[in-house]
Amino acid sequence: MKQAIAGILLGAALFLAGCYTVPETGRTSFMLPVDDVAQGAAAFAELKAKGPISHDPEANARVRRIGNRIAGAVGDALPGAAWEFVVFDEDATINAFALPGGKVGIYTGLIKLVSSDDELAAVIGHEIAHVTARHGAERMSQGILAAAGGVVLDASTKNSNNKELLMASYGLLAGGGMLAFSRAHESEADYIGIRYAAKAGYDPRAAISFWQKMAEVSKGARMPAFLSTHPSHDRRIADLQKWMPEVVPIYEANRRP
Ligand SMILES: [Zn+2]
Repeated sequence: MKQAIAGILLGAALFLAGCYTVPETGRTSFMLPVDDVAQGAAAFAELKAKGPISHDPEANARVRRIGNRIAGAVGDALPGAAWEFVVFDEDATINAFALPGGKVGIYTGLIKLVSSDDELAAVIGHEIAHVTARHGAERMSQGILAAAGGVVLDASTKNSNNKELLMASYGLLAGGGMLAFSRAHESEADYIGIRYAAKAGYDPRAAISFWQKMAEVSKGARMPAFLSTHPSHDRRIADLQKWMPEVVPIYEANRRP
């Protein structure tokens, strides 16, 4: 009986599923009608409450200025986006993350690593790309389907803790704001991110110098956890180099004095 219900629910979910066209790449992604924007806003509010958030006015103003300029270059790719850029005060964390709807967090550890606005723009462009490509909603959809499929296969397994599932779909691990997107999503965000940064007038070549720096940092004894879910640095840098002939002209056309 449970299996029959699960099967019906799975059928209904597939019936309601839609497709989303990812901006800049045109990829069609499969998506259930999930409320990713509300979930993203709620998760972000939770992370901010947990903090600690940085009260350094200079760092916050810098991140907001770059973030809003790149968000402006996104155009109408994500109608209804409520962009928010927050600096989290953790020097030991060389990381950044994005949540559905336009919520972006940057850790002070990452800000200390970058040596120019162009490099920071590479990071923020990447995070904004995760948002406009709706990678969070895609992961949620995949997670829900996998869970529903699991129920169909084994009706006796009760592992449908909804909140945990949603958090896992965002890649939000307990105790941290770390995203664990798939390598395909990471690569897509790299590509879209440098296009956004270039359109906003930031030099996309800074993405290469940034990731070279990240490769150096990760050679140290303790590799930041999030790096392990990202594409290998060599692969990532090679891809970025391959895309430069396409994006540098966009930057040249949009660079500001
Ligand atoms: Zn990413």
